[in-house]
Amino acid sequence: MRFDLHSHSTCSDGLLSPAELVERAVQRGVDVLALTDHDEVKGLSAARVAAANWGLRLVNGVEISVLWEEVTLHIVGLDIDDTHEPLVEGLAGIRTGREQRALRMADSLAAAGIPDTLAGARRYAKNPELVSRSHFARYLVEAGHARDTNAVFRHFLTPGKPGYVPHQWATLADAVNWISGGGGIAVLAHPGRYDLGEARCERLLGEFGELGGAAVEVVTGSHSPSEFVTWARHARQFGLLASAGSDFHGPGEGYRDIGDVPALPSGCDPVWARF
Ligand code: AMP
Ligand code: MN
Ligand code: MN
Ligand code: MN
Repeated sequence: MRFDLHSHSTCSDGLLSPAELVERAVQRGVDVLALTDHDEVKGLSAARVAAANWGLRLVNGVEISVLWEEVTLHIVGLDIDDTHEPLVEGLAGIRTGREQRALRMADSLAAAGIPDTLAGARRYAKNPELVSRSHFARYLVEAGHARDTNAVFRHFLTPGKPGYVPHQWATLADAVNWISGGGGIAVLAHPGRYDLGEARCERLLGEFGELGGAAVEVVTGSHSPSEFVTWARHARQFGLLASAGSDFHGPGEGYRDIGDVPALPSGCDPVWARF
């Protein structure tokens, strides 16, 4: 069975509609796919219809933005109840916050001499409720401020750069509760991307487990093969299951295409045993 438990559609910052995403997953040999849009579950119904047509198993997912000790973290929810009220309301609150952040980002870029970026970003945001840094990045490339979106993030959209504004996301406890309160499985996404250092990293894994977090993303498009092994070890150490997903956003974006998910290192307890 081929699993891909992390992917995005146009309902957040992906480039394919939920139905197109499912079709591409099927063509690339995926048997079990989780759609995990940022702070949004709106794409799941269309993805479920497409998955039923193609005979693919769709796992209801989400990727929640969290602020923990001043660090932005992403918590993936798998097998979530997308009608669970605390989750639905919590995500709506995050999306409102995104709108306010987008206004501040545009002001900040305007002050740096780059006007009209909010209107530009909105053109790329197919879901008007979800404006992401990725949409700003695509517009800044179009407007000629950088060669590609990676360069935009380097020069404009990361801490210390003119278009970056700090933001209050959900708390770790809220995100885990919204997921597990509806029967879902909370997964710490792409841990290798957070610049935590060893002590804080261990504190995070301990706290995450105590709150009811169940798994760590071991294999992800954000990790190198040696990081697969490191995070498999951390997962085991903290009694957490292992998850795997491409974090696919669109053709030509990111490192891994949908379904391009290497096997978990040996000794992992796969999260899909819980499905
Ligand atoms: P946001 O949640 O709006 O702050 O946007 C975060 C999204 O930006 C991530 O999910 C990635 O899709 C994208 N992203 C973050 N860093 C980079 C980068 N260095 N290059 C390209 N995309 C990035
Ligand atoms: Mn993204
Ligand atoms: Mn993420
Ligand atoms: Mn993601």
